[in-house]
Amino acid sequence: MKVLVTGGAGYIGSVTVERLIAHGASVVVFDNLYQGHRAAVHPDAVFVQGDLADAAAIDETIARHQPDGIMHFASHTLVGESWQKPFLYLRDNVVNGLNLMESAVRHGVGRFILSSTANLFDDPERIPIEATERIVPGSPYGESKHILERELYWLDRACGLRHACLRYFNACGATETRGEDHHPETHLIPLVLQVALGQREHITIFGDDYDTPDGTCIRDYIHVVDLAEAHILALHSLDGGSRKYNLGTGRGYSVREVIETAREVTGHPIPTVMGPRRPGDPALLVAGNEAITRELGWRPRYATLREMVETAWRWHVAHPQGYEE
Ligand code: UDP
Repeated sequence: MKVLVTGGAGYIGSVTVERLIAHGASVVVFDNLYQGHRAAVHPDAVFVQGDLADAAAIDETIARHQPDGIMHFASHTLVGESWQKPFLYLRDNVVNGLNLMESAVRHGVGRFILSSTANLFDDPERIPIEATERIVPGSPYGESKHILERELYWLDRACGLRHACLRYFNACGATETRGEDHHPETHLIPLVLQVALGQREHITIFGDDYDTPDGTCIRDYIHVVDLAEAHILALHSLDGGSRKYNLGTGRGYSVREVIETAREVTGHPIPTVMGPRRPGDPALLVAGNEAITRELGWRPRYATLREMVETAWRWHVAHPQGYEE
């Protein structure tokens, strides 16, 4: 199978490319390298540097390579930034995704996997949050993914574009060769590991007055390889129809538990400073993964936070400056 991966130079995209190639797929990566890293792209993938805002560029790439399926990772992905710069999300994420979908339809690519988000569920009625939970986007970012999910729904009905929407909870961890390297870094686990590497003095905890056992926010951390494998299973499932899944392990960890785990893994004391809440952070996000385990037989290989942090730590020790030489 030939797969076009947008954002294949980014964190989750590059690891998914690595897993696709391990499964024998041939891969074309389309990435503008604004946030991604050329060095993260698997050497056996064809690399096209291009921007989805350039409808002709993506159309030409799809026409030339004729992929059997598309995985769409390329996007702006930060909840906080989406409040500061809403048009990056409400316009660029949406229009860029539509350019890609239109080319997919035009060239008869019938399989499409969308990176979606737990930020669709700002006010869940039930925890763990199953894929059937009502959608209440928590930010312009969440809304941009909601709009893309709806576009896919209509394109399936109108044009037969089979798709899967995968709502990630908190991706983390690394393979031996690919890990998390954002500029600026905003995510908890890489920031905590930067403290252990001596690159930061401390980690700031964003609020300890939430309604949780230790007062800090609880998140469902899922290993990036388990996410990647879910994409591959989903791609192969689409003959059975379009689908939506929430992707997490189903177990939550608080910010304090993440820091404590990182102390155990790294042997570093990891000093903390208490800060105010970060606007828009819900207290508790835990995925219900019942649908994907039942329908696709997906099981997380990395079940505990400790295993996930160990893989991230190995990568950060081996790549203290990330992908920079
Ligand atoms: N967090 C924190 N300090 C930081 C970064 C994050 O306390 O420097 C908290 C954040 O408030 C959230 C959790 O860690 O409760 C995970 O945040 P992250 O940005 O990694 O992922 P998100 O849940 O926003 O997707």
